[in-house]
Amino acid sequence: MVNAVALREKLIREAEPDLSWQEVAVLLESKDKELEEAFFMRAKAIRDKFIGKKAYFRGLVEMSNICAKNCLYCGIRADNAEPHRYKMSFQEVMDACQFAYERGYGSVVLQSGEISSVAFINEITDLLTAIQQKFDGRLRVTLSCGEQSEETYQRWYDAGAHRYLLRIETSDPEFYRAIHPNDRHHDFEERVNCLRLLRKVGYQVGSGIMIGLPGQNYAAVARDLMFLKEMDVDMVGMGPYIEHEETPLWERRDQLWPLRERLAAGIKAVAALRILMKDINIAAATALQAIDPKGREQALDVGANVIMPNLTPIEYRKDYSLYENKPCTDEDRGMCSVCLEGRVKSIGLEVARDQWGDSIHYHDRQKKS
Ligand code: SF4
Repeated sequence: MVNAVALREKLIREAEPDLSWQEVAVLLESKDKELEEAFFMRAKAIRDKFIGKKAYFRGLVEMSNICAKNCLYCGIRADNAEPHRYKMSFQEVMDACQFAYERGYGSVVLQSGEISSVAFINEITDLLTAIQQKFDGRLRVTLSCGEQSEETYQRWYDAGAHRYLLRIETSDPEFYRAIHPNDRHHDFEERVNCLRLLRKVGYQVGSGIMIGLPGQNYAAVARDLMFLKEMDVDMVGMGPYIEHEETPLWERRDQLWPLRERLAAGIKAVAALRILMKDINIAAATALQAIDPKGREQALDVGANVIMPNLTPIEYRKDYSLYENKPCTDEDRGMCSVCLEGRVKSIGLEVARDQWGDSIHYHDRQKKS
């Protein structure tokens, strides 16, 4: 049984406290303002010490909403006839990268639905090669293109991708089956195995979870955070679950946490993970802003250090509808960039320009091995 008073004292007294999953669960759920104050103060101090008072920009390019999978929570799942399916052209992706480069972002995230065809694999390889040639290695690339074979991961790594984001969504195999179709294309062990393959190939490995899914509780979220620590990930993108009407999980909306609780838990999860994993990169998820206009600032204020301006051309944004009320779907990249810079500065952080913003955690592990 965790004593909240003792936990608060520990957060005040210890510069780098070691937290159990039970303590994390209490921190996520507690509404005690004094405990919350000590919790956020400690997370922020750790971010400032290990990362600095700065935020890295990653230009997000949602290359395509075509996906072969059917995750029960996702608005662009293959069986959803609603969104218009699109694929950005080679030149459109290169233009987005050029914009990121000129703005001094130092890094882009190329994201798409999950496709494993030879044509798709070749297209991504060609894009990576072109980005390497054009920017001479000065633009770091994170890929987020789902589960692939080791050979494909290796090929993309060799072509210039050095970071890969593959969210696990939940660390509980049983719960994973409850939010995915039960077939071989949606297999928990396979997803975990992909995280291991990515590490083996040499990527900076990113993962993440959803918070506030129907049927989830605070203890489960706390264990998910411990899973990310056990997997020793280098970067994390996680945020509150937001329902989408055109998905099977919509039927379970009566079991949802209130939106404000999902927001609060999403922010507290960032703070808890910062205490658990001091030198990783943690993104302030866009989904936080879907609930509260200042959701991303709140995450940056308690330990996040990455923010992702959307560089997807406006005509495609509404069709990359992973969840409802996704913010910033009608702002062009220039507006998005200025808006996010203002958000970062408003909470006293510096925008780190012309830097890759690699995970310190990754480089430290490389040095030790
Ligand atoms: S969550 Fe990813 S893999 Fe699943 S349906 Fe959506 S885009 Fe496809």
